[in-house]
Amino acid sequence: MKHDALVVGGGVAGLATALALGRTGLGIQVLEQASAFGEVGAGLQLGPNAVRVLAHWGLTNELNACAAFPDALQVRDARGGERLGRLSLGAQARARYGYSYATLHRADLHALLLQAVRQLPRVRLALDARVAGYTESADGVRVSEEDETVFDAHALVGADGLWSRVRSQLLGAQPVRASGHLAYRGMVRGADLSVALRAPLVTAWLGPRLHVVHYPVRQGDWFNVVVVVHGVLGQGHGGAVGGDPKSWSHEAHAEDLRRTLGAAHVDLLQMVEAVPHWTLWPLNDRPPMTGPQHHARGRVALLGDAAHPLRPYLAQGAAMALEDAWTLGCLVESHPSGTEVDWPELFQRFAHTRWARNARVQRRSQRNGAIFHASGLVRWGRNAAMATLGESLLDLPWLYAGPPQP
Ligand SMILES: Cc1cc2nc3c(=O)[nH]c(=O)nc-3n(C[C@H](O)[C@H](O)[C@H](O)COP(=O)(O)OP(=O)(O)OC[C@H]3O[C@@H](n4cnc5c(N)ncnc54)[C@H](O)[C@@H]3O)c2cc1C
Repeated sequence: MKHDALVVGGGVAGLATALALGRTGLGIQVLEQASAFGEVGAGLQLGPNAVRVLAHWGLTNELNACAAFPDALQVRDARGGERLGRLSLGAQARARYGYSYATLHRADLHALLLQAVRQLPRVRLALDARVAGYTESADGVRVSEEDETVFDAHALVGADGLWSRVRSQLLGAQPVRASGHLAYRGMVRGADLSVALRAPLVTAWLGPRLHVVHYPVRQGDWFNVVVVVHGVLGQGHGGAVGGDPKSWSHEAHAEDLRRTLGAAHVDLLQMVEAVPHWTLWPLNDRPPMTGPQHHARGRVALLGDAAHPLRPYLAQGAAMALEDAWTLGCLVESHPSGTEVDWPELFQRFAHTRWARNARVQRRSQRNGAIFHASGLVRWGRNAAMATLGESLLDLPWLYAGPPQP
């Protein structure tokens, strides 16, 4: 049996791709290596650009049922506690961009995509399907699993994340780039926080060599807390020296975190103390894309982190995966009906449409890390700029007004 397209990976990018392509009536096979679909226990922010994509897929009610919609983003100094900047979200984001700024549990985003995909009659989902590689011919692609099962299709989408095998084969093996930063992740019940701390806000605390972000998920019943610090696994932080960099959940110790935070503001310390359990996540990425060749060649395309892994300092990795999938779906929809999809040509159009925006988001995310963790003169300049420029520094119309359009 020959599928229209194979999608390797059943994360946000893979499921979004299956949804975008499956909605057009194509026959899609998703291959996911895990034995169950699921996501790690952590949160995600989705800017209006990503919420717009979900709305165009008809998923607004599903999003509203599980997300939180914070009133504002506030930026505070991690030591002194003073407010450095504020961006109104809520009604103002809706007025400016037509869509809300949402915060949600990763598992909830994953579940709503999965539910939508399962309603598409021509999309098949396979678990325990670890892809080993592919071969491309003039009229198709053959994908082999590690157990030597093979799948044939007209096209292949690699949505297999930062450590993508499809990418290694398409672009050649290149090592990922270690950022030298670690993310401590935890969730806390809203009921276990003071009234002030459970306000419907995204709060970003900036300090030298660290920053902390917390926000509500599940309509405020829970809060997601991420602390990003400079450091290495097993050296003053949990995990083990040389621990698996691919794992998103190394063991973390609250005392390491407390020591690293040092004399932080009391509100920040209270938030961190309230989290009952932490996991540790080494942050890696790749250099920004430099052209469309990083997105596609022939009958093979890369989407999401497989194409453009990001540092999480703009909170846009999943959002870019949703935009990628949306764009691909629109291109398929716009191809002349009654004719076969010319995949190499369509993937080229996809790559040319997406790469520069993805590269810009990668560069901006990288830069934010340096700005967030600044000390000395750079810190002083950052704080002065936020005080002077106010919302205009935090609002990003080029980003939040992004897809859909077609
Ligand atoms: C600390 C942190 C905070 C973040 N916060 C945000 C945020 O607020 N907002 C936001 O938009 N983004 C955020 N991101 C980024 C976001 O999490 C990622 O960009 C997004 O999850 C990428 O999705 P993906 O589907 O491309 O990759 P992944 O989620 O990595 O999924 C890849 C899938 O492919 C499967 N797979 C891999 N290899 C194979 C194989 N050989 N065969 C079969 N299957 C395979 C994997 O099992 C996995 O299911 C954050 C990231 C981090 C680290």
